[in-house]
Amino acid sequence: MAYENTILALPLPWHKDVWEGFSRAIDVGRMPHALLLHGTNGVGKRRLAMTLAQQMLCGAEANQYACGSCKPCKLLLAGSHPDLTILEPEEDGKKIRVDDVRRLCTKLNTTAQQGGWKIGLILVADAMNINASNALLKSLEEPQGKTLLILVSDRLHALLPTIRSRCQKQYLSTPSEDVATHWLKEVSGNSSDVAKAIEVSNGRPLLALHNIESGTLALRQDFEAIIEGVASGSLSSVEAAQQCVKLNGNNIIEWYMNYVHRLAVNEGQGGGDRRLFQFQDRLMSARQLLLSQSNVNQQLLLEGLFMDWAQSSNAISH
Ligand SMILES: [Zn+2]
Repeated sequence: MAYENTILALPLPWHKDVWEGFSRAIDVGRMPHALLLHGTNGVGKRRLAMTLAQQMLCGAEANQYACGSCKPCKLLLAGSHPDLTILEPEEDGKKIRVDDVRRLCTKLNTTAQQGGWKIGLILVADAMNINASNALLKSLEEPQGKTLLILVSDRLHALLPTIRSRCQKQYLSTPSEDVATHWLKEVSGNSSDVAKAIEVSNGRPLLALHNIESGTLALRQDFEAIIEGVASGSLSSVEAAQQCVKLNGNNIIEWYMNYVHRLAVNEGQGGGDRRLFQFQDRLMSARQLLLSQSNVNQQLLLEGLFMDWAQSSNAISH
């Protein structure tokens, strides 16, 4: 978050309409007290939340976006704006703590130090446990003037219904492939990997960018070459499993599932070979095993999977 916190963000091209809606609401003084940005992971929800927070805290007159040079903007860019509070779990998979939510609510109830809006940003809002959610509900029930809570969630259904119903919901969709591709080429400065990155990320542009920048895309491509080698018979299941030894087991299974899914969609155009679906189930049990046990022998697990994969691929191609 520190990175996103310190850059001056502009709305993403596919958020133009949503952004214009927010701008109009700000202009006429009709911003809600609580917004819930939801949609799948990797479409830019955090980015939009941050852009909106920056715009609302900026002290310049009648700007379409935050100016970046006024005092509030400078505080924001330094990560020390006193009227912006950002909450997120300390680590992936961890919960947001009730004490942190209480602190946020207290801040929203006190006078703004810069004299403008007070903004609370809850990233991964579905990571609030029941106590944290109940603490937040009180704030939602008694909104103060010039306060805005922005909740961000990939899993709308995991939020308390009472929280969902007190927020103005804004769904953010995945852009078209053309829009995603054009944007990713511009920001990554890399045109050769863009199509593949978009493909393995199911069209979600920020996830695709992350896959390129983190080096995950290159690892995935290596992994897909391995499973294609197994399918064609040029690699034995033992050799293939050895080549995967440095990769994280959970990641491999996710990548494998994504690969088989794309294969089923491309081949079947809605139908798909039932053996692909059976293999997908096989991958799901492997994933379950890896998640539930800490001492799984990855080499043996993969050898077994690759052996089945070789058989399925052989049966499908004949
Ligand atoms: Zn400014």
